[in-house]
Amino acid sequence: MNMEDIDRLIAFHGHLGPYAMIGLRMGLKAVSLLSAQRHFGIEIAVECADCPPQSCIVDGLQVSTGATYGKRNIVLVKSSQIKVSASNKKDGSRVCMTLTEKAQASIAAMPKDHESVEKTAMDMARWPDEDLFQTEIMKT
Ligand SMILES: [Zn+2]
Repeated sequence: MNMEDIDRLIAFHGHLGPYAMIGLRMGLKAVSLLSAQRHFGIEIAVECADCPPQSCIVDGLQVSTGATYGKRNIVLVKSSQIKVSASNKKDGSRVCMTLTEKAQASIAAMPKDHESVEKTAMDMARWPDEDLFQTEIMKT
């Protein structure tokens, strides 16, 4: 994936971790699948734990979709399972994304020191989408 996107993520989020990286990738995928307009044409609901590291996924999504906390078009719904729903405000089409077993296992096996966290995120940047998350498209 594009190094520029990763730099923007680090500038916004302050560090690199797997959840922020997954959010970045999910957002890029959602915008392209839905042909949604970034910033104002997309709405995101993120189901996840309401604290880091899981909630770091929200920042990855904000960077890649332009949906932001301030505009109120991205919300966090507290949940024990990660699930991201994105919809195109123009036509109502929607995608749902959940983490693969492979991604969950990789995060679970990751040592929690700064370098390992960053390395896991950079490794994931090179994974194909389908290794990171499952995508279900709901066209209306
Ligand atoms: Zn983070």
